[in-house]
Amino acid sequence: MNYDFIIVGAGFAGLVLAERISTQLDKKCLIIDRRSHIGGNAHDEYDDAGVLIHTYGPHYFRTDSERVQSYLSQFTEWLPVNYEIRSYTRGQYWNFPINLNTFEQYIGRASTREEFESWLDEHRIRIDRPANSEELILAMAGPEFYEMFYRGYTVKQWREDPRNIDPEVCGRISIRTDRNNGYVSERFQALPRDGYHVLFDNMINACGGNADLMLGTEYEDVKSKVFCKHLIYTGSPDEYYEFALGKLPYRSLRFARQSFDANELFEREAIAGKKGFWQPTVQVNYPNDNDFTRIVETKHITGQQCDVTTIVREYPQDYSDGAEPYYPVPTGEAAAIYRKYEELAGLERRVTFIGRLANYKYYNMDRVIEKALDCFERMRKMI
Ligand SMILES: Cc1cc2nc3c(=O)[nH]c(=O)nc-3n(C[C@H](O)[C@H](O)[C@H](O)COP(=O)(O)OP(=O)(O)OC[C@H]3O[C@@H](n4cnc5c(N)ncnc54)[C@H](O)[C@@H]3O)c2cc1C
Repeated sequence: MNYDFIIVGAGFAGLVLAERISTQLDKKCLIIDRRSHIGGNAHDEYDDAGVLIHTYGPHYFRTDSERVQSYLSQFTEWLPVNYEIRSYTRGQYWNFPINLNTFEQYIGRASTREEFESWLDEHRIRIDRPANSEELILAMAGPEFYEMFYRGYTVKQWREDPRNIDPEVCGRISIRTDRNNGYVSERFQALPRDGYHVLFDNMINACGGNADLMLGTEYEDVKSKVFCKHLIYTGSPDEYYEFALGKLPYRSLRFARQSFDANELFEREAIAGKKGFWQPTVQVNYPNDNDFTRIVETKHITGQQCDVTTIVREYPQDYSDGAEPYYPVPTGEAAAIYRKYEELAGLERRVTFIGRLANYKYYNMDRVIEKALDCFERMRKMI
């Protein structure tokens, strides 16, 4: 079998490149993925209870990039969403990320932005250049909020003290002194109206006869049987190089689903504050209680109208054989291993490494799409 391009991985990185190469260059691609579906980690599906869930954890699409928004809009209509979450600790649900509402819950009375700002100023620890996640949050919010919302969550998530974790990990979550309850700050926040799986089907369909798909297939098992002029690899670089320079560390996750029908929901609806729901918002973090980090109820954001619901508890796991590599580990040690693979990859002329695994970086979806579009523009110039 001969192709112009073989693309390993049918996530956003692989699919954007397949679509561009097929439609703009009229070249033939083979897309290979070990999973039984396209879409990578952003895949969604209807579960056994008929509820649309995000299979590999909640995927909140958001972007500040007009280019990414308009590229994806060729393949989907949008459902605008305001992503709101809560954090559960000390027996109650708190507004999170921390804002003026959280502060009022904490002091037990109404307050003002000015009062909260001066409280923060008094409680923050002066650290000029925070070198890790603990120092960053202590410098932004002080020890009390660090203990309530950050420390336990980070330890559970990474099995590592926040002191050993890069500052940008906890720094991704903003601390606000107004009443904005939004989880994220990007200009455009929306989900594909009919689900990510329909968006991905539309991308593949756009490729027409120029793209073949091999699902449930390990690249390793077919690489001596399929040939191409150029390989696009969106998997882990250590795996590609057969772990020659060591194993890249990852964190993995276990997802435990539980569905409820209308009768079972009866008692929870008061807590959720909405009929047909189990919890108050799409995501509730559990920084200090239980073994899971969060519970996700996607029905809050998909717009699905039904009287059943599904919640998913997320348990961080060590990454061992058979587990999925979800999160690159944000430590200096891991970055040093990656840099060695990056050097090797830089010598390749007929292989492009792109995507979240290949670049060993926590990229949001919009960033991966942007990088894939840039990569395509570079390739187009070379052909
Ligand atoms: C729990 C979780 C929550 C997230 N939430 C958000 C969010 O809210 N918002 C957001 O913007 N982003 C979120 N992300 C990030 C988002 O998942 C990624 O940005 C996006 O999936 C990256 O696309 P990708 O194509 O690079 O990788 P992936 O989606 O991981 O796709 C890579 C594909 O390659 C396949 N593959 C790898 N190696 C091989 C091989 N050797 N042979 C065959 N197949 C192979 C894999 O099976 C996989 O399907 C989240 C990620 C996780 C893990």
